[in-house]
Amino acid sequence: MPHIELLDQITIDKIAAGEVIERPASVVKELVENAIDAGATAIVTEIEDGGITMMRITDNGCGIEKTEVANAFLRHSTSKIRSAEDLFRISSLGFRGEALSSIAAVSQVELITKPREELFGTRYVIEGGKEKALEDTGAPDGTTFMVRQLFYNTPARRKFLKTPMTEASHISDLLTRLALSHPEISFQFINNRQTKLHTSGNGNMKDVIYHIYGREVANHLLPLDFEKNGVRLSGFLGEPLISRGNRNFENYFVNGRYVKSNILSKAIEDGYKDFSMQHKYPFVAFHLFLEQEKVDINVHPTKMELRFSAQQEIYNLVYQAVREGLHEKELIPVVEVPE
Ligand code: ADP
Ligand code: MG
Repeated sequence: MPHIELLDQITIDKIAAGEVIERPASVVKELVENAIDAGATAIVTEIEDGGITMMRITDNGCGIEKTEVANAFLRHSTSKIRSAEDLFRISSLGFRGEALSSIAAVSQVELITKPREELFGTRYVIEGGKEKALEDTGAPDGTTFMVRQLFYNTPARRKFLKTPMTEASHISDLLTRLALSHPEISFQFINNRQTKLHTSGNGNMKDVIYHIYGREVANHLLPLDFEKNGVRLSGFLGEPLISRGNRNFENYFVNGRYVKSNILSKAIEDGYKDFSMQHKYPFVAFHLFLEQEKVDINVHPTKMELRFSAQQEIYNLVYQAVREGLHEKELIPVVEVPE
């Protein structure tokens, strides 16, 4: 009979890391979301070689106390929730407490962090889940994570990475969305020492849209402001004439979080149906706010999927909001002429 044994912590973390950390963009997502949760007003992301060799995320948020640093890297350790009930009123982007342990399990991490009220900062080094250093250091307020050699100890994973250019474009897409969803935060993205994105953080979503997509898009936006049954939509709808051939232009955020949702995409696209050509996807950038209890974000470790408790109601509301938003301006519906 084979002997049954509990795996050691490093192996457990490595296995679990596979669910959260798929590619460099997953690391950036987790670290930038942590920076947002930490109350940062400026977040800089620097990468080299598509993030495969180096990613550095710097924020001016609340920092981590020296006595808490090692704990932050333990699986299921979080400052954001305390019990399962809290899962139904999550106001932070993180809550599962598994990003740092996952990242540290499959890369070489150096952290420098300092809370504003502390005199000294802390430098912490952890590689493949093993602590290498914990010491005082001079540091600016906030937190810098340096992540090197992603998947250096899981060669099978490393093989699945695409070219640096493709990995960099995933990171760029992600930062674009984060910048759009948080116009009050300044985002900077530096790829191989070149600045690719730098938003002002002045709080104006339209300015971010202009910065990212240019004048052509920014000049063809309709404001979206809709409220019904405690559900609120706020942001912009692109005029049908700037629709594109793929869904990359659909940016929607549920309670502040960038997610993918078939229900929402369908409601938006159905709302545009009479206004744009077939097989065209609209530009949208808007927030959907609803009671936390009506949405479950704890569906998958990456927190990109969500479940609505009342799907049909959400579909109807979003559809109605889009229709009304488009009708406000006398857009001419596309008339399908039968052949
Ligand atoms: P979660 O975000 O789900 O809580 P993480 O593993 O991502 O779990 O982070 C663990 C904890 O480390 C967080 O709850 C937070 O207290 C702390 N932390 C992580 N990143 C930062 C940061 N940039 N600034 C301040 N605290 C941070
Ligand atoms: Mg987190």
